[in-house]
Amino acid sequence: MTTFCDSGEQIEDFIDEFLVECPRCSKLCKVLLESTIQAREEFSLRLFRRRRAVCLNCGYSASWDGRTLKQYLDGHDWYFGLSLWLRTPCCGEVLWAFNVRHLDFLEGYVSATNRQQVPNINKSLASRLPDWIKSAKNRSEIVKCIQALRKRLPSGN
Ligand SMILES: [Zn+2]
Repeated sequence: MTTFCDSGEQIEDFIDEFLVECPRCSKLCKVLLESTIQAREEFSLRLFRRRRAVCLNCGYSASWDGRTLKQYLDGHDWYFGLSLWLRTPCCGEVLWAFNVRHLDFLEGYVSATNRQQVPNINKSLASRLPDWIKSAKNRSEIVKCIQALRKRLPSGN
């Protein structure tokens, strides 16, 4: 039996890096913070820090000015609205992750046969996952999709 213990991660804990599809060459591109965030920096400040999209393949680069978020676009990064690199059809839905840490988190959650909820963390990412991800009957298919997504990552990740 594997156990997942909800330590209260929030989606915001994963927004320092988005792996996206480059709008120019369709290869892997990254949306990164332009500066290092301070430990324990307030979410509202962290959210609006300047971002840069950088493609190591074709040299594409773009800046985000800190104003309009595209957070409402599911399966896209919140800053440039680019398609997430880690995105795949799964169980009739779309499974996506911002980055490798986010994918690790999902895998830990989905593959666990025992999930422990920490009381009073009702904003946690685990508690807000959609029902189809929480459903035990989808476990094996979701784990397969996560493994397929890992193959999209360059080696070294
Ligand atoms: Zn590119």
